[in-house]
Amino acid sequence: MINLYTPAEIVSKLDEYVIGQDDAKRVLAVAVYNHYKRVQFAQAASGDVEIKKSNIMMMGPTGSGKTLLVTSLAKILNTNFVTADATAIVASDNISEEINKMLVKLLDKTNGDVRAAEMGIIFLDEIDKLVTGVNRMKGETIQQIMLKIVEGTIAEVVYKGQLLKMDTNNILFICGGAFVDLPGIIRSRMGERETLLLDDFQVLKLLVVEDFASFGMIPEFCGRFPVTVVLQALNHAALKEALVKPKNSLISQYEKMLEVENVEIEFNPASLDKIAELAEKLHTGARGLRTICERFMTQIMFDIPNEQNLKKVTITPEVVEGKAKPIYYFTVSRSGAELTAVDPLPQRATSPYTDEVGGEKYGKNY
Ligand code: ADP
Repeated sequence: MINLYTPAEIVSKLDEYVIGQDDAKRVLAVAVYNHYKRVQFAQAASGDVEIKKSNIMMMGPTGSGKTLLVTSLAKILNTNFVTADATAIVASDNISEEINKMLVKLLDKTNGDVRAAEMGIIFLDEIDKLVTGVNRMKGETIQQIMLKIVEGTIAEVVYKGQLLKMDTNNILFICGGAFVDLPGIIRSRMGERETLLLDDFQVLKLLVVEDFASFGMIPEFCGRFPVTVVLQALNHAALKEALVKPKNSLISQYEKMLEVENVEIEFNPASLDKIAELAEKLHTGARGLRTICERFMTQIMFDIPNEQNLKKVTITPEVVEGKAKPIYYFTVSRSGAELTAVDPLPQRATSPYTDEVGGEKYGKNY
């Protein structure tokens, strides 16, 4: 059963998972709310007013939260959701089969329940690669083939050896892409004077269907995605928040992983700033946060299972930069004496490769 929340409720629930992107959340919430209202309305089937389907086109730099927004949305609504990648469709020798696979995946999610699958969400990522790749002609063919499914048709799908008919009218299609060259196209259409003071995020909000055509997408396809959602690159403050604030944040994942080993991990506030700062330089959005963290977390997670009596690990900015090793705190000293838990915990050793921290050198030879 789909949870039909109001747009405001959807936005406040999305806030638990996604940092920033306030505009995107609002547009998405209204679009999704309208979509499921439309489904209800169609089921009530009264009169001859037909509400048109509004699929969604999401644009924004890599790592800005496009996938996160859609997965969170599906979770909140309790709807079936699958993701597909346009690059896989381009690479395939059998386009129709690859497109049908999206429907098959939805059926997998519902264990073959066609009615339930017909209410799902399909997220088609990297949609811009249909035209920016080497095979532009193929990209156009794919868009042509997808027109009907996206708009709403009765599709025939072979599922576990059975031929099923699936109505795609109520399936919500959300496309995502970085559309790197699109802001430039809009700027040249509008003129330098109009757009000089605007950043790419503001420029993308001025998009019209013709810009998609200039980008290389076929107008009929883009016309089936009347709702456009624009995300902006996360700045330093947002990246820092993304580390700690969302449900299932990266830091909480590391805490959980170490908790299983009975080890506490502490990131001092300056270290969070440093992670955000280095991640920003990678230009991969919030995805860069994990890249930076993995650089020092891998060794820690390698060490921990070998270290008895390890109680706590502290991460400093120098650790993040790779200029120092994490500080390891133990409950039992090298000589075997129990160290009582004073605060901070007695610092016996360091990471395997550090020289001396806190007086006592760790005796292992790494
Ligand atoms: P995109 O689809 O825009 O390329 P993703 O949604 O896949 O980016 O995000 C990549 C990673 O960064 C994920 O781990 C996600 O949780 C995190 N992330 C991206 N944007 C945000 C955000 N706005 N708030 C919190 N985390 C984010």
